[in-house]
Amino acid sequence: MINVDPVELQKFSELAHRWWDPQSEFKPLHDINPLRLDYIDQMAGLKGKRVLDVGCGGGILSEAMAAAGATVTGIDLGDKPLKVAQLHLLESGLTVEYRNITVEELACEQPGQYDVITCMEMLEHVPDPASVVNACARLVSPGGKCFFSTINRNPKSYLFAILGAEYVLNLLPRGTHDYARFIRPAELARYCRRAELNTGQLIGMTYNPFTRTYSLVADTSVNYILVASAA
Ligand code: SAH
Repeated sequence: MINVDPVELQKFSELAHRWWDPQSEFKPLHDINPLRLDYIDQMAGLKGKRVLDVGCGGGILSEAMAAAGATVTGIDLGDKPLKVAQLHLLESGLTVEYRNITVEELACEQPGQYDVITCMEMLEHVPDPASVVNACARLVSPGGKCFFSTINRNPKSYLFAILGAEYVLNLLPRGTHDYARFIRPAELARYCRRAELNTGQLIGMTYNPFTRTYSLVADTSVNYILVASAA
């Protein structure tokens, strides 16, 4: 059995044609992109690195990392998002290798081949996130870094990430997120340790609806990024 929920893939496929429209359902991904790109670049130095973007979708982050000088491979199991990502390369003139393959399978094919692995806003959509973390741990090269971003699980994250984002502010389509799949930082850190990754910086990402801006903060109660490195 492969580690995927077809219902989750379907959600992204249905909207895929609007992936690169910055005013679409994917607006939050466009809005947080400069922030996360900057963070990854500061922590890992993207120029000249071999990077794997797991659950790359339409390629918003993949392209930005390629533009920053990395050699990027993007993988996803959604056919439509991958097609959109591939097509967008014609517009941007950038080079990214996109593949439809599970991260677990790629880990068998290319162990230790990536200096940097990004897995953003994806873990909360898979049945077995620990298996994804495990595969990333096998794919990263010695001394390399993995960046995982997801949503914390607590009453505040329910309020902000589901009620706030999907029902009040309409930042995301209703049903985008399933509370039960949210992951506490301590759980993600445990998956990392079990996969023999050393956990590093944990940082929060918040949205201010008044200024309509995102920023990196110490508060990890809703959205957060965890960095983990390979020994
Ligand atoms: N990481 C991108 C896209 C996030 S949207 C970004 O942050 O910009 C979540 C993506 O995860 C979708 O493209 C969806 O197709 C993908 N996805 C969901 N389950 C997956 C799985 N099991 N394996 C690979 N990708 C998956």
